[in-house]
Amino acid sequence: GANLRGLVRKNWLLVATVVSVLLGIGLGVLVREFEPLSHLNKQYFGFPGELLMRMLKMVILPLIISSMITGVAALDSEVSGKIGLRAVTYYFSTTIIAVILGIILVMSIKPGVSQEPEDIDRSGTTPNVTTVDTLLDLLRNMFPENLVQACFQQVRCCFSLPKCILHISNITKEYNIIGAYSDGINVLGLIVFCVAFGLVIGKMGEKGRILLEFFDALNEATMKLVQIIMCYMPVGILFLIAAKIIEVEDWEIFKKMAAPLLCIHLLVIHATVCLPLIYFIIVRKNPYTFTLGMAQALVTALMISSSSATLPVTFRCAEENNRIDKRITRFVLPVGATINMDGTALYEAVAAIFIAQLNDYSLDVGQIVTISITATVASIGAAGVPNAGLVTMVIVLTAVGLPANDVTLIVAVDWLLDRFRTMINVLGDAYGAGIVQKLSKMELERMDLISDVDVANPF
Ligand code: ASP
Repeated sequence: GANLRGLVRKNWLLVATVVSVLLGIGLGVLVREFEPLSHLNKQYFGFPGELLMRMLKMVILPLIISSMITGVAALDSEVSGKIGLRAVTYYFSTTIIAVILGIILVMSIKPGVSQEPEDIDRSGTTPNVTTVDTLLDLLRNMFPENLVQACFQQVRCCFSLPKCILHISNITKEYNIIGAYSDGINVLGLIVFCVAFGLVIGKMGEKGRILLEFFDALNEATMKLVQIIMCYMPVGILFLIAAKIIEVEDWEIFKKMAAPLLCIHLLVIHATVCLPLIYFIIVRKNPYTFTLGMAQALVTALMISSSSATLPVTFRCAEENNRIDKRITRFVLPVGATINMDGTALYEAVAAIFIAQLNDYSLDVGQIVTISITATVASIGAAGVPNAGLVTMVIVLTAVGLPANDVTLIVAVDWLLDRFRTMINVLGDAYGAGIVQKLSKMELERMDLISDVDVANPF
């Protein structure tokens, strides 16, 4: 009794969010069934959810800038280099593990083989992209020529899928996925700039201290704003999910798609077995307590399918619940949200092999290796915005000679899959912060000894 009450009081926001997800689903199903709303009113229905998205996106910019600059400037360059190397090693190895897990399982379960290809037909304009293009775009985005512009868009949009048409049995649907790749802030570019800027500030001595204090205060103020926004979260999420359920068409398509459900299972394995195991081996603490601490961020990711927009919540969960050092989160989380996408990488590899099976296309070992490499690149290249992984999927397909148009097969169900993979992406970033903190314990303690008054970590 009292225990439970105490627990609820401590986690009221999480409880409220989960309740609002359930209420939202219920409300959505009711409105769908009984259709009390006209078409126009349906559009207004999602408005409170749209506001939540806007608020979250609003704080990304000050959050990334202030946390990256203070994160780097507060460490000396040798330490930040080491932490950066550890983070990148973690990102890379977990992404590869996710890809391999996906490939092994999808090759043994063979979800695409039982399908009858004649039943599914797809057409649309064929996009033309190569892995080299994507890599070049990635590099271009790393060096924005205009810093202000980088705050609202990626430098160059590599490609978009203009229009896809899918026929399954007696259903024909047309999908537009334009610019998913280029939506939003050029986070990568800003990160590169902030790392460089932070390094310079760190080396400037007394003068640099003024800037460091400024960005530190900016960071604190932004996190306060995040706290306020999070109070609105249950309301926003209720309408977000309800509106989505009202809007979705063709649940029938789901019945035809074995791979999507499979993908979700594989993602769950990665999140509940692989990542926790790595965390346990390195950190020697209960990984599931850690996952529980991230619950609010995970639900958010599931609801809004964007790692970047979830970032403010990820920060709060990692710092408040899991007590990860600010010097680590500030450094590791923004980069993770941008390049570390285990869920996306796993998904791209599985989907590519599923499509090959569907086409009766047998893959040799070389092609499977190609799939794992391109899936990794595609996940790094995908921005942390909704459906980005679907668009970069084209790289994986073209690399092994599969028809790029076949992404169409997944478009119909991607809105659901995207949520799950985003959740895994966010969880992977969080575990990364926990692991890097453990590995960097010595350096952090040494720094604490040297500077007893540390502006970046006043407590
Ligand atoms: N929506 C994903 C994310 O933000 C990216 C993807 O589409 O795979 O992490």
